[in-house]
Amino acid sequence: MKSIKNIAIIGGGPAASTLGILLQRSGCRVGMYFLPEKAPVVVGESLVPMIIPMLQDLGIEQDVAAYSILKPGACFTFDGEETFAFRFADNPANLPAYSYNVPRKAFNETLRNAARDAGVQLIEQPARLQRSGADSIALDAASLQAAGDCWQGAEPDLIVDAAGRARLLGQLLDIPVQKGRREDVALFAHVDRTELIDPGYVHTDRLEHGWSWRIPLPERVSLGFVVPADYAGNSDETPEQQYDRLLRQDRVVQKFAPDAQRLTPVQRFRNYQSQSTRWCGDNWVMLGDSGGFVDPVFSGGFVDPVFSSGMLIAMDSAYKLADTLARGKPLSSYETAIRRHLQA
Ligand SMILES: Cc1cc2nc3c(=O)[nH]c(=O)nc-3n(C[C@H](O)[C@H](O)[C@H](O)COP(=O)(O)OP(=O)(O)OC[C@H]3O[C@@H](n4cnc5c(N)ncnc54)[C@H](O)[C@@H]3O)c2cc1C
Repeated sequence: MKSIKNIAIIGGGPAASTLGILLQRSGCRVGMYFLPEKAPVVVGESLVPMIIPMLQDLGIEQDVAAYSILKPGACFTFDGEETFAFRFADNPANLPAYSYNVPRKAFNETLRNAARDAGVQLIEQPARLQRSGADSIALDAASLQAAGDCWQGAEPDLIVDAAGRARLLGQLLDIPVQKGRREDVALFAHVDRTELIDPGYVHTDRLEHGWSWRIPLPERVSLGFVVPADYAGNSDETPEQQYDRLLRQDRVVQKFAPDAQRLTPVQRFRNYQSQSTRWCGDNWVMLGDSGGFVDPVFSGGFVDPVFSSGMLIAMDSAYKLADTLARGKPLSSYETAIRRHLQA
């Protein structure tokens, strides 16, 4: 396989920045196209303990801890009655005993700054791609120009799509996705005056219809609902109309947040339950959510989607891809490893 040294990464989220840092460490020349977050709230706030060694390796744990909430465990409540909680410290496996709930905009910024400090060239503009062969792609002229002398004006050896659910490459190359059968909608915002059973714990509640998350953040709680699309309401309604009705109507939510006020606009998601049927090609590869993060087979019927694995998969896939490139292994071995992780 041709040596890959010049690499373009598209996207400024956790997958992109993690990969940028690791590639710079192994001597690559990395340009990262990114867009600053526009929405006031970004999903992916509750991290699992397996991420802690990565935060330490990337040298950002102290910064993250300074603006986040320590997360010692998780707690599940069924129909507002039965509660089951566990502390990470009690896990018999040798895993970190804690994690963090993070305000995502700050977290993305910390990681991007670490990428810049590691030598990644940050390019604050959207990257645009075009086809350049049967299974190869290229940056368009304007995107290449924006990279300045990062690759001495030449096209990079490899383009990494880490642009999240926009699926830039999937759309450009018409790559089909495998979709799950569920028709869920996720709606989330930050609220105040919400009870917590255990401080810092991520709370998962079974509602009258669907389920909700409560993620404690500094001076607020991230409250999200995952409900059947028809229960969420009419698709002509705004996300705020749907969210506010769920906040006031659901009997279980009324128990723990009877006086909660919404502090932010609402984000609505429908397209989280898909996985790309291909993750790599001649000179391209997908990373993080651009390829998928919820296994559609499992979340298609048997279990509720497990969102909390998203950031772990995004960052861990960056480690797997960096390792694949450093060892000169084919990109297909990275794809195999990611598929296995998603199924697990
Ligand atoms: C409802 C819901 C709840 C979730 N909750 C959790 C949770 O609690 N914990 C957890 O671990 N995970 C959670 N996730 C998953 C988590 O949000 C994602 O897995 C994670 O953000 C993926 O990171 P990423 O870097 O792949 O993509 P993203 O975080 O989406 O980052 C992609 C970035 O690329 C940028 N971009 C897009 N197009 C371009 C372009 N053309 N040029 C340059 N940049 C571009 C975007 O602006 C964005 O900043 C949740 C997901 C959903 C849908």
